[in-house]
Amino acid sequence: MTPLAVREVWPHNKVLKGIPASPGIVIGPAYVLGERNKVRITHNYLDSRDEVEVEIHRFRDAVAHTRKEIADIKHSITDEFQEHAYILDTHLLILQDKLLYDETIRLIQEEHINAEWALKEAVKKAQALFNRIADPYIKSRIQDVGDVSERVLRRLTGGSPLNLRNLAEPVIIVAVDLSPVDTTQMSTDQVKGFITETGGKTSHTAIMAQSMEIPAVVALEKATLEIDNGDTLILDGLNGTVVINPDANMLDIYRQRKKKFEDFKHDVGKCSFLPAITLDEHQTQVLANIEFQEEVGLALDYGADGIGLYRTEFLYLRQQQLPTEEELFEDYKTVAGMMAPRRVTIRTLDIGGDKFASHLEYAPGINPAMGLRAIRFCLKEHSIFRTQLRAILRASLYGQVRLMFPLISGMQEVVAARRILEEIKGELHREGHGFDPAMPVGLMIEVPSAVMLADLLAREADFFSIGTNDLIQYALAIDRGNKYVASMYQPLHPAVLRMIKQVVDGGHAAGISVAVCGEMAGDPLYTPILLGLGVDELSMNALAIPVVKRIVRHASMEEAQEFARQALQHGSVEEVNAYVTGVMAKRFPEVFIFGRELASAAA
Ligand code: PEP
Ligand code: MG
Repeated sequence: MTPLAVREVWPHNKVLKGIPASPGIVIGPAYVLGERNKVRITHNYLDSRDEVEVEIHRFRDAVAHTRKEIADIKHSITDEFQEHAYILDTHLLILQDKLLYDETIRLIQEEHINAEWALKEAVKKAQALFNRIADPYIKSRIQDVGDVSERVLRRLTGGSPLNLRNLAEPVIIVAVDLSPVDTTQMSTDQVKGFITETGGKTSHTAIMAQSMEIPAVVALEKATLEIDNGDTLILDGLNGTVVINPDANMLDIYRQRKKKFEDFKHDVGKCSFLPAITLDEHQTQVLANIEFQEEVGLALDYGADGIGLYRTEFLYLRQQQLPTEEELFEDYKTVAGMMAPRRVTIRTLDIGGDKFASHLEYAPGINPAMGLRAIRFCLKEHSIFRTQLRAILRASLYGQVRLMFPLISGMQEVVAARRILEEIKGELHREGHGFDPAMPVGLMIEVPSAVMLADLLAREADFFSIGTNDLIQYALAIDRGNKYVASMYQPLHPAVLRMIKQVVDGGHAAGISVAVCGEMAGDPLYTPILLGLGVDELSMNALAIPVVKRIVRHASMEEAQEFARQALQHGSVEEVNAYVTGVMAKRFPEVFIFGRELASAAA
């Protein structure tokens, strides 16, 4: 049976599932880019020295042209995409990276293979290296390497660059992967949604789709094979569903869902820029977590009261060499400036555990989550730590910068880290560098020992931020990256709730504020309970901000406290879950209607 015949037998309602990457629902015709859009290459053996020289020349020439092509795109970029122009700079950097450029030339010279094949081999090696990095953000940079090399290959083989500018009608793009550069050339009038076979929630394409407010589903395997050009698609970016050629009934269901979601989004959106204040006038802060500078725009668009967690690993993981003090300073200064007068909490390097860089040597050990990670790593690698502290302190002049140390397990680390910070202040002062001498210093509470010592640690800190992602992992002995125990990873475990309460009480007794910056903070199901436990600030993925603010604004502190008090009475996680979902379904049904989907679509 031919694929066409198969389609005739089941022409309607074929459902595919991917990862939701940008919330929203869209219905429209498919525009499939797919494998047929990829450059096909051959393997040729070079017989003579002259041929080797010709191939090297061809390669250099293709890279030079690609650089020009990217630079041209950068200049022609419309205002709408200005904040994403950095992606083009990343691509320009990749083009001159040793891993790609020098390695390709080496392969041509030593292996006597044609430029296309040599580049393909170099890309494979680079991707294997990236693959060893557990951090999903860094991992998704593999895609950038692929995109750039695809452009060079297109040049080498005489193909023309992909043009998505002049599409005849509004479409949903279906592609194996979609380079961010291609994305910058699109018009939102014509592109209504994306579906890609590769990518993850943190891929650039996903981030761009979010900021363009275009629904997207990624990691949808075989999408380009299953979907034909012109097929009518329903793309549900809330739960990652794609329906191919829906029948009238299905269309009707989704049209209604789309309308309901849009009304909900509109309603929720009204809360974005309002203060997160409860019905009984209790003020909280709803902040954004970011991993790199370019997410600041998204944080501002979604009404963040500040940045509650800037994970600073990215600059260390994305390149071969350690970032310099100047590079770090410029980055932190930009973020602080863009967010001012709102505050920015910069977390010092949390490398190790599930995030490591190949150029930073340390023994991963059998259980890296309990190894030389975060503050432990920094207290061992003094010069890396000092460079970062100098950059953060210097950036503190340009906005409301706060600093926080991750994975504190006891007082000794706080004392050691603060001592180094004081030394750096003296050093900067002597060198004539300005900084904010009163820059607040906070501690991340994410190890059970720190919970037990919260009252004592609070005397040495200006604020606490509870990292529930790790706290749950260490408290329940559930590896946060292990899918076999994922169902046991329970934020509402009574032990977790008691720990949060203990940290809040310890912090408040010493007069300092307590934030939560793990994923738990961005799930609206937990908003009232966290408020009721006394948490002062919630920091989350930017997309979750409007819905969390809405819950805060529709709850009273008095009811939240009673809710938390009752929840703490239950002894098993099943009981707490049943209690919390029961109350929330009655009190805040919107949480279950679109709230959680909206908040988690980009978590
Ligand atoms: C946490 O552990 O909750 C946290 C916010 O830090 P990370 O997820 O970066 O470890
Ligand atoms: Mg953590």
